[in-house]
Formats: sequence, structure tokens, C-alpha cells
Amino acid sequence: MWRWSGYRRFVRADGVSRAIFVPRVRCSGCRITDALLPAFVLSGRVDVAETIGAVIEAVVVVGARGVRPAAGEVDVAHTTARGWVGHLPVGRTGDYEA
Ligand SMILES: [Zn+2]
Repeated sequence: MWRWSGYRRFVRADGVSRAIFVPRVRCSGCRITDALLPAFVLSGRVDVAETIGAVIEAVVVVGARGVRPAAGEVDVAHTTARGWVGHLPVGRTGDYEA
């Protein structure tokens, strides 16, 4: 694999957005390109994995809170956080490992 290009994108952590550079690499064998996202960035999400994980853990794994208070604790709009947990079965403790 060798570096082929890249792009700038924003990530948000602790309520602050910052730009990062995401390199794209090309496989020398099949010539397919892939973006190399850092481990703290999720594809298609501006918020870092730690933020999203905190809300999912509070709402889905622990099951003790609704989306709105969990989102407030990480300084994210509850409408945004609702999308992170909307398709997960909420309150079914034991389905997920903490
Ligand atoms: Zn390849």
C-alpha cells in the first residue's frame, strides 16, 4: 500500500470541532483505495467514538437513562444522539457487554 491522496474532515470531541487529515492509500496488488481513519473516528460520524460510545453505554447497555440526559452529558444534541441508539434495542440489559 502506498499513500495516494487524502482529504480533510472535521471531528467533534468535547463539543469542539477540529479538522483532521485522513490519508487515502492504494493497494499495490488490486489498486483499490481506502481511507485510513484514526481509531477514534467513525465513518460517517462527526463525533468521536468515545462520545458516541458513552451515549450508547448509558442508554443501551446500562439502560438507566434516556437519550436526552445522556446526550446532555457529552454536549451533543439529543436529536443527533437519538440516531446513534435509534436502531438498538434499548433497556435490554444483558444483550451487550459493558
Ligand atoms: Zn489489494
